[in-house]
Amino acid sequence: MVTKYIFITGGVVSSLGKGIISASLGKLLQARGFKVTIQKFDPYINIDPGTLNPYEHGECYVTADGMETDLDLGHYERFTGIRTTRENSITTGRIYKTVIDRERHGDYLGKTIQVVPHITDEIKRRMLRKDVKGEDLDFVITEVGGTIGDIESAPFMEAIRQLRWQLGRDAVCVHLTYVPYLKAAEELKTKPTQHSVKELQGMGIQPDILVLRTERHLDDGLRMKVASFCNVDLECVVQSEDMPSIYEVPVSMQRQGLDAAILRKIGIPVGETPAMKSWHDFLEKQRAAKREVHVALVGKYDLQDAYKSIRESLNLAGIYDDVKVKIHFVGSQGITRENVAEKLAGMAGIVICPGFGQRGIPGKIFAAEYARTNDIPCFGICLGMQMMVIEFARDVLKLEDADSSEMNPDTPHNVIDLMEEQKNITQMGGTMRLGEYPCELREGSRALEAYGGKASVRERHRHRYEFNNQYREAYEKAGMKCVGVNPEADLVEVVEIPEKRWYIGTQFHPEYSSTVLHPHPLFVSFVKACIAQAADLGRQ
Ligand code: GLN
Repeated sequence: MVTKYIFITGGVVSSLGKGIISASLGKLLQARGFKVTIQKFDPYINIDPGTLNPYEHGECYVTADGMETDLDLGHYERFTGIRTTRENSITTGRIYKTVIDRERHGDYLGKTIQVVPHITDEIKRRMLRKDVKGEDLDFVITEVGGTIGDIESAPFMEAIRQLRWQLGRDAVCVHLTYVPYLKAAEELKTKPTQHSVKELQGMGIQPDILVLRTERHLDDGLRMKVASFCNVDLECVVQSEDMPSIYEVPVSMQRQGLDAAILRKIGIPVGETPAMKSWHDFLEKQRAAKREVHVALVGKYDLQDAYKSIRESLNLAGIYDDVKVKIHFVGSQGITRENVAEKLAGMAGIVICPGFGQRGIPGKIFAAEYARTNDIPCFGICLGMQMMVIEFARDVLKLEDADSSEMNPDTPHNVIDLMEEQKNITQMGGTMRLGEYPCELREGSRALEAYGGKASVRERHRHRYEFNNQYREAYEKAGMKCVGVNPEADLVEVVEIPEKRWYIGTQFHPEYSSTVLHPHPLFVSFVKACIAQAADLGRQ
């Protein structure tokens, strides 16, 4: 089959959940047996979001091949199980860089380089995935970040317009808008949608499908009105109502025939509606999970999106164990030795989050100490693992000044130290130890047990500092075991204290590879320990 292209744009306001719609559509097409990928084009100038503060753009997600990307790629992977790559996350910055590098190389000698056609041609090339070899895809779903009408997204829109013309029926445009409900008038309003579609039409793009985000159910009359004002078939106007869970969205879209409408537009026989049994089984479990287990998320960013993949990984792991993981964000900056017990009271488990820099570091160390000394299940991820290591050094190894050289370059006990390969790096973007690396797990360890006995695993990374192997023996002797190691670099990837209920730190980020149908084994194992802990708390 010739590859088909679906473009997803958004209008009216941002944060409508284009990423969820893109991921849902990917899921639905996959369920029909098509080979699909989903890619995101972001109109900002940064080469990637790796250097952005999470307050700006939420979590930075990392692909297996080591690209720092937008968090929507996390949704794509969690919904579909597709493994995205660096070609699935493109920014204006990357587009310009390619064109400018080419210009300096002399590839356009004699020519004036312009937004149209040079930038738009490069966008088109990337949208068509010309750099990816040996891919045999049926569908490429391209989500464009930002909102229609933004100055910076104009070249992307122009590229879509041209591709649409070029590809004919092999391309479909889906536009996501918002239908607000005005309380005072007790009315749902379609005008913003009409304006947004007009704006799109003004750029020469007629949407084929409209997805209307709404907090209230839209009746057929309203859909009809939108259809006739926007030149879209009625069956191509679907609504995306607020759902109790984002994982309900694919099913809602399927019920309204979003995938079928797209196939009809393209001219592919629609065929039977796939049953999506495992997805429905998952939703059943999710709806049935009522018992709550309380887990503290100790981090410095008080923002839903900052630890998106960790939150989702915890939720997903819980659902398979019939519990609802209630996540309590605890700002590490506010944690002191005096208030740590109060802040973490009643928690069945503690996650110590990844991060960079000084802010909130002591709080993370107090939380690690509290978890260890009170034997509360504790999962340290990346910086979280490093904090576990520092806390253990200070309290158990009696190395009071132990620290990470990230926080204190002059520490006499740099139990966490800058990696050798990082020492000569001065550039900031994309230079960490990124992406998938192997890890060998020790016989008899809790981590190995969590992985179901699989001793060689591959996990994704994003760090510059590592466990300092000079201290390894001391740790082992004192009871913190280095049970996961990178076989090539001998870098410590997993530490655990076997005598504790569940006390594991990972240098890697398991949250990046947890999916709806395959929650990550470490999260599953951690949540099981939290459930046991909660049961004990209940008995007290
Ligand atoms: N700042 C730490 C490092 O660079 C941890 C990074 C992280 O948590 N992703 O090693």
